[in-house]
Amino acid sequence: MVFSAASFSPYPSPSPLIQPSHYCGLPTSIVACSSLCLSLLASITVSLTSRLKYRFWAKRRIAQQIKMKYILVTGGVVSGLGKGVTASSVGLLLKACGLRVTSIKIDPYLNTDAGTMSPFEHGEVFVLDDGGEVDLDLGNYERFLDIKLTRDNNITTGKIYQFVINKERKGDYLGKTVQVVPHITDAIQEWIERVAIIPVDGNEGPADVCVIELGGTIGDIESMPFIEALGQFSYRVGPGNFCLIHVSLVPVLNVVGEQKTKPTQHSVRGLRGLGLTPNILACRSALPLEDNVKEKLTQFCHVPASNILTLYDVPNIWHVPLLLRDQKGHEAILKALNLQGVAKEPMLDEWTARAKISDALSDPVRIAMVGKYTGLSDSYLSVLKALLHASVTCRRKLVVDWVPASDLEDATAKEEPDVHKNAWNLLKCADGVLVPGGFGDRGVEGKILAAKYARENNIPYLGICLGMQIAVIEFSRHVMNLRDANSTEFDPNTKNPCVIFMPEVSTTHMGGTMRLGSRRTYFQVKNCKSAKLYGNVKFVDERHRHRYEVNPDMVMQLERSGLAFVGKDEGGGRMEILELLSHPFYVGVQFHPEFKSRPGKPSALFLGALLEYFLGLIAASSGQLDAFLKADGQINLLPPEISISNSSSLAISYQNGHAKRLSNGHYNENGNGVHI
Ligand code: GLN
Repeated sequence: MVFSAASFSPYPSPSPLIQPSHYCGLPTSIVACSSLCLSLLASITVSLTSRLKYRFWAKRRIAQQIKMKYILVTGGVVSGLGKGVTASSVGLLLKACGLRVTSIKIDPYLNTDAGTMSPFEHGEVFVLDDGGEVDLDLGNYERFLDIKLTRDNNITTGKIYQFVINKERKGDYLGKTVQVVPHITDAIQEWIERVAIIPVDGNEGPADVCVIELGGTIGDIESMPFIEALGQFSYRVGPGNFCLIHVSLVPVLNVVGEQKTKPTQHSVRGLRGLGLTPNILACRSALPLEDNVKEKLTQFCHVPASNILTLYDVPNIWHVPLLLRDQKGHEAILKALNLQGVAKEPMLDEWTARAKISDALSDPVRIAMVGKYTGLSDSYLSVLKALLHASVTCRRKLVVDWVPASDLEDATAKEEPDVHKNAWNLLKCADGVLVPGGFGDRGVEGKILAAKYARENNIPYLGICLGMQIAVIEFSRHVMNLRDANSTEFDPNTKNPCVIFMPEVSTTHMGGTMRLGSRRTYFQVKNCKSAKLYGNVKFVDERHRHRYEVNPDMVMQLERSGLAFVGKDEGGGRMEILELLSHPFYVGVQFHPEFKSRPGKPSALFLGALLEYFLGLIAASSGQLDAFLKADGQINLLPPEISISNSSSLAISYQNGHAKRLSNGHYNENGNGVHI
């Protein structure tokens, strides 16, 4: 099967950073013309270099006969077993063995991407650097593996059919009847091979291993073409290059307390019936599998006992890679992939330390998350993870109090006084308030009340995307006395539109038409908290997903009244970061810093990488911000409990009340700004 690079580009469209801004003071036609030429030139250069690089590596692989190794992760019995976490953990374990890892998520639904799907039904829409709106599992991969994926790393049925149908319309099938087999199945295999070799870890050339997660459960109608394609694929890449890990469930019946293998047996039988043979079974169960249970599974599923791993319940997901390692999962995988001589023993010291620290935390930091709907925590998954990363850095136990925004509103006080009281109690007990991104007007008034409360009571506030717009509306109404100030998203007829629809956004098409992906924000004020949090850099690239923006015509008025826009886009007309300079921590960001937060940040910080807003919020909420932002913007990166050993692993000693000591300035310091 030959894939032609000319038939479709494996690269995301050129950086959105080089697209023209609509705000320059020059006549629009000149700006449009010159920036169009520039952007054309830049896009041709980017696309050419990308293509050349791609061809170079593709040729090198063929010449050296370097074979990509593939790991397929499937799920059986029931959904929600944690295939995503398992796949990410497998990737991490292999990375810890010294291999370079990439990943692909297959979602067998018909949507082209996750962008149009409700986060309350499907979990959060994760946004990539290239603007891809993808399944939240890609967020897990990025966080666990510290990689940057592309939109093509998320395959959907919609994308595959769109590709095949476009080809058919162009006449590329030369009169053939276009069918699921071979055309759809071929397209799936080509897509996997093409995407697997895109470098995602910042190094040149393709990764060694590609972890592919197949969404859904074996037996779903939607996944049939993918199963067929993957069966053909495993045969084509050959034994030693393909390893199938089947995640299954071993329930325990309360009556007899026995671990039951039958659901797994059926699920494996189903898998075999579809032409796929599992190399490894990863069984979810409350406790480790008993030996006789493993024997039974070996007998009925034809998988050696050494390849049967138990994913038993653990206190936090950071333990999953450790579970796999402790059961020698990496050895089973490396054997199946003929990589035994190549890989080293897994180095997971830092990861282990972090998982243990997280378990041992007891000093709480309470964050009130004021959202539109708070029933499904997956809707705000990356925000929660980012808060967790920051809490671990600050040695605080994260307690998230979900406050449904509409419960704070006056209308609720009349209809359900207890609900209203409860919501306000939660808000008032919080150390910090976070208003995450969102769409639509439900709960907006409640969010405005929360922002007002935080502003007036000096409570740390972080507003993300919609949360920033909420802060602008609140400020306009209650500080500038513009009583009907609103976003045109919620009141198209407001006389004081402080947040407006962006000129370049489509009014007719919803999918992929927002201002999406990585864009650059330039700091405007040197000594603001945001610049300090980012280590006093000149600009920062963060991911966006919005249709509305702060009204440029009202910026001067807002700034005169005391709202500082400390970060703006490259044209200077689009507000990216706001701060109330007199407040301990009152920050709004038009972008989503949660998408780039990583669990490894504390040690990355040591190497001079960036701090971020969640750390700012948590540090402010736990009285540590001043210690983190030392004089002249020097950031003290790690609290004193952490010492960095020569292997860059974390050695921890737990002390009570360190946070208070930190904020009082009692800490030891060595010369490089890191406390030991
Ligand atoms: N609804 C707002 C907008 O489109 C905010 C979006 C968001 O929070 N992601 O601009």
